[in-house]
Amino acid sequence: MKIITLIIPCFNEQEVLNLFYKEVSHVTNAMTDISFRFLFINDGSKDHTLDILKELSQNYENVSYLSLSRNFGKEAAMLAGLDYAEGDAVIIMDADLQHPPEMIPDMVKYWKQGYDDVCAKRKNRKDEGRLKRCLTQAFYSCISFLSKVPMQQNVGDFRLMDRRCVASLRLLRESQRYTKGIFTWIGYRKKEIPFEVQTRAAGKTTWNYFSLVNLALEGITSFTTVPLRLTTCLGLLISVLAICYMFFVVINALLYGDPVAGYPTLMTVMLFLGGVQLLSLGIIGEYLGRIFNESKNRPLYLIDEYDGKPVTYVPDIKPVERNFRIANKNEEESYE
Ligand code: UDP
Ligand code: MG
Repeated sequence: MKIITLIIPCFNEQEVLNLFYKEVSHVTNAMTDISFRFLFINDGSKDHTLDILKELSQNYENVSYLSLSRNFGKEAAMLAGLDYAEGDAVIIMDADLQHPPEMIPDMVKYWKQGYDDVCAKRKNRKDEGRLKRCLTQAFYSCISFLSKVPMQQNVGDFRLMDRRCVASLRLLRESQRYTKGIFTWIGYRKKEIPFEVQTRAAGKTTWNYFSLVNLALEGITSFTTVPLRLTTCLGLLISVLAICYMFFVVINALLYGDPVAGYPTLMTVMLFLGGVQLLSLGIIGEYLGRIFNESKNRPLYLIDEYDGKPVTYVPDIKPVERNFRIANKNEEESYE
């Protein structure tokens, strides 16, 4: 029997977890040909999330949980889940039931047809304000213009991935993760199926405009160096214009004398150039910051406990190897 692990990152989700388990297991129990496992990742929640997870894992055999040593963010929590997931495929879901569990049978159907990465594509963004929708659209246009890898639009983290996608994702251990881009980058056979985002069942979202802007910058700087190239081009263009203007000024002065004037022009040019310089420095700084962060080579998350057992830190490369072995073991088991 094939095994699918559901990876569920949770950050302060105490209100919704029991309901989540009930709703999702209602769907998964109906699919008798596949054994589903729940892997919750407690991402340093401040409320009773961990207690509820402990309770769930005691009550149900197919539930296990990882508890990170603090809040590392959803991206790191997802990677922890991918590192520890076992089986033939994984499904990543939000804990807040915004991702309808009724789609799981469809996803599995396409997976059985041979797709490696079945992702849910949001049909509507009606739950979001007009400004947020416009900004999202602008971001997608911007990144698909800048990046060589075509970015999937309006898909989130709700997706089913085959084991080989998971194994590939484990290799990509950059510390500033833009998972959406990483999913696209790994390639393999992708299938998008449309879905309507539900409103949150309980609790509240942790995202705000600031974190969305951050995410957008993250996305662009982690996927393309085109902004650096653009600054070079801009610098070149401005230099050429400056030289032309210089000739104009010099010839003008030679032919017609040099009355001291032109304060407005001077100011405009100075301010413009100052702006361009600061912007270019900022862009270089963004990339420098990324190099700085990557060069520290820190583990992307630390685990406090795994199913109640304390976990001592093992070097970052270890979980990858460990899980490769697990993956291979499963291969023998599940394809028998
Ligand atoms: N989440 C997490 N760590 C965080 C923030 C969020 O694990 O630091 C989880 C959260 O519990 C939820 C999922 O990521 O399961 C999506 O978060 P949220 O609903 O706040 O985001 P939105 O749906 O608004 O994009
Ligand atoms: Mg949500």
